Amino acid sequence: MEGVQESMMPYQRKESVMHWLEKEKTLSIATISHRLGVSEMTVYRDIKPLVEKGDIARTTGGIVLRESEPTPDYCAYCLKVNNRIHQAQMLYGDQHIEYFCCPHCALLRYHYQAEQVDQLICQDFLKGTTISGKNAFYLLGADELLGCCSPQVLVFEKKEQAEKFSMGFGGCVHSFHSAVREVHRQMSGSCDCTE
Ligand SMILES: [Zn+2]
Ligand SMILES: [Zn+2]
Repeated sequence: MEGVQESMMPYQRKESVMHWLEKEKTLSIATISHRLGVSEMTVYRDIKPLVEKGDIARTTGGIVLRESEPTPDYCAYCLKVNNRIHQAQMLYGDQHIEYFCCPHCALLRYHYQAEQVDQLICQDFLKGTTISGKNAFYLLGADELLGCCSPQVLVFEKKEQAEKFSMGFGGCVHSFHSAVREVHRQMSGSCDCTE
């Protein structure tokens, strides 16, 4: 341990990063590493909980405050215009982010990219809060409400809420991996007509 910077505790470094981000909106990992006097590896370790909490998102070589994050115009899977509130975002291990028009596209994309995906971020259908897609519950086959991709996928943070919702609007509740399989199955079976 030499110098003031290196004796900073991880939580103090996180506070500094958040403080800078609030003013500067975006920071590169190299800048943070330089300012804190710690290795880039340490920076990545420090910011990991902030990324997991959804306070910040990683970009190529840096981080951004999530509220200031620009939303790309098109869904990364179906290329529809991303003008909806029920979007989903996927964060990859190599730090890039993809945006989806709705959870349907995020699940399909995940089916093909599972290995590379670090995190899936969704909005709770009822509360609009940011939640972790991998721990969320998915309602498939309910009444059409999003007006986006079909089969429609609604996301809920709590299983009870998804189940309660399905009593009024139909559909089946799935956990994350089961929802990924189910959407893929319904999409790939083009000849598998059930109507
Ligand atoms: Zn889409
Ligand atoms: Zn969609």
